[in-house]
Amino acid sequence: MAKKNELIQSVKGTRDLLPSETPLWQRVEEEARKVFEAYNFREIRTPVLEQTALFARSVGSDTDIVTKEMYTFEDRDSESLTLRPEATASVVRAYIEHGLYNQGGIQKLYYFGPMFRRERPQKGRYRQFYQIGAEVLGSEHPAIDAEVLEMLVLLLERLGLKEFKLLLNSVGCSKCRPEYLKTLRKALDEVKDRLCTDCRRRSHTNPLRVLDCKIEADQPIIEKLPTILEHLCPECRQHFDSVTLDLKQRRVDFEIVPRLVRGLDYYTRTTFEITSGLLGAQNALLGGGRYDGLSEMLGGPPAPGFGFAIGQDRLVLTLETTGTLKLAQPLAVYIAWLGDAAREPSLLLARQLRRQGIGVEISYHQIKLKKAMGAASKLQAPYTLIIGEDEVASGSYQVKNMQTGEQTSVSAGEIAGFLKEKLREPLQAGEDPAEQP
Ligand code: AMP
Repeated sequence: MAKKNELIQSVKGTRDLLPSETPLWQRVEEEARKVFEAYNFREIRTPVLEQTALFARSVGSDTDIVTKEMYTFEDRDSESLTLRPEATASVVRAYIEHGLYNQGGIQKLYYFGPMFRRERPQKGRYRQFYQIGAEVLGSEHPAIDAEVLEMLVLLLERLGLKEFKLLLNSVGCSKCRPEYLKTLRKALDEVKDRLCTDCRRRSHTNPLRVLDCKIEADQPIIEKLPTILEHLCPECRQHFDSVTLDLKQRRVDFEIVPRLVRGLDYYTRTTFEITSGLLGAQNALLGGGRYDGLSEMLGGPPAPGFGFAIGQDRLVLTLETTGTLKLAQPLAVYIAWLGDAAREPSLLLARQLRRQGIGVEISYHQIKLKKAMGAASKLQAPYTLIIGEDEVASGSYQVKNMQTGEQTSVSAGEIAGFLKEKLREPLQAGEDPAEQP
């Protein structure tokens, strides 16, 4: 506990997002909303706090998340609660709890929000991090997998991102995976003594995770292990082939990575990740896949699902390095008034502009012309309006472009129109790639 008078700092692994950073976060959220809604997804908001059992049952009691990383505590009435480490389980819980399956058809849901995992903090890895995710519940059709992947690629392109790779695999189903695991365990028995300590442990507890090991020395051994793609049952094989064919028809590029597995137990069939070379060690920008048995695991009806979670922190980090996105500047104009008689008309003009959604800063007290210019540059206002008694009398105002120094005489009633015209919304960085069918 911090001593009295000692500076209290943010908790390790959490961070403040300052006003210099939030425009990019907002832009990502805005673009995600637009793209998801274009694919008919609707927003869902679930609580950050859930019963611990929700994650133990869905994410898996042997996974790193559940064994080591959850923020779990006993509430005052002895109930065990957990700060959500991910949101798919919560969305499926809500889907069951509110009987969304009764509405017929499929549900397409998206969410934004903070997640909590007690990992070792480093660049791109935090204890409180943010995910943007979406889930489709109620169908196992492979076209859903392909459509969602197309949507993700579109979102990244619209954010101006070029350097990313879609990695695809299938982890089979409850029919073919146990058989494969037997084969994998047998193969691991022969080589595990030459693997790292973590892999030796995992070869007993969660052998699939061995395939995900990042230790350089283990790679030549892991490469020779049997892959699940060679052991899929006919139904899973057909699903995978349909997804890849559909992706080709939609002109979505991907790479099949037979060793791609994910850290959560509920996945079946399609699994994927999008990585970015711009990220360094923590290069997974997002991940997801199909989870056809999750609803039943949580006591619900059969409701096959497919979804993903984008690591928003990492997406923003990547966009900071590419720097191609134009961000909206909320402040359009700085108004300074000179002389008492100019105050009231200036206030009314500011109010009129603000009502029309134009960002205005107005001096609180009377300042001299030179100071007003200094204040406007400090605020980085694109335009400045200096209103003196003469301007009020004539009804004609000088709008100054702070970048070029150009001044335009505009009448009071036309200022809003003038500014709107000059400050039209910034263009998208990544235009839609007009693909020919
Ligand atoms: P997961 O929920 O583990 O499938 O992760 C989905 C995405 O969330 C990853 O690809 C990362 O981009 C992001 N992510 C996961 N854990 C963290 C973390 N501790 N800090 C920052 N981003 C994370």
